[in-house]
Amino acid sequence: MTALAVSFFHSDTWYVIRNLLIFFGAIFWLAVAYWVYKDARRRIEDPWLVAMATLLGLVPPFLGTLVYMLFRPPEYLEDVRERDLEIKELEERLSRYELRCPVCRAGVDPTYLVCPVCTTKLKQACETCKAPLEPLWQVCPHCETPIASTPTLDLGPPVEPRRRRRQRPRA
Ligand SMILES: [Zn+2]
Ligand SMILES: [Zn+2]
Repeated sequence: MTALAVSFFHSDTWYVIRNLLIFFGAIFWLAVAYWVYKDARRRIEDPWLVAMATLLGLVPPFLGTLVYMLFRPPEYLEDVRERDLEIKELEERLSRYELRCPVCRAGVDPTYLVCPVCTTKLKQACETCKAPLEPLWQVCPHCETPIASTPTLDLGPPVEPRRRRRQRPRA
């Protein structure tokens, strides 16, 4: 075995080294192309584009991989999906907290005039087009009808008369 190796080494050392270099070069080339394929599958959804990326990883050898690394999508599909889910969840949570009846905390729609659960008056309807109006609006944005300023929620008698009644006995 050793004698054979020694004689092999002595006969044509250059060819052995060259063949080994070619062999390892080919293995490295295929491994890099496989890495491109795996990486592209994690970053690109379209199977055709993944195939193109893999081809680029193979030809031209190594240089194609470099080009792929320069132009590949910056994020993994997994991360993009996860972030989209998180955003959707956040939006849902926000919308859930945003619109609730002030009395019974039941979920309400921005178009509701009255809470369907506890019948609390939520909004005033436009006299002309019946659209729900926000409390601060001076005019209906849908039909330009001026809004008569009646409070949406009955908050008891106005503040002014009460003050006068308290001040009178003192004076
Ligand atoms: Zn309610
Ligand atoms: Zn209107």
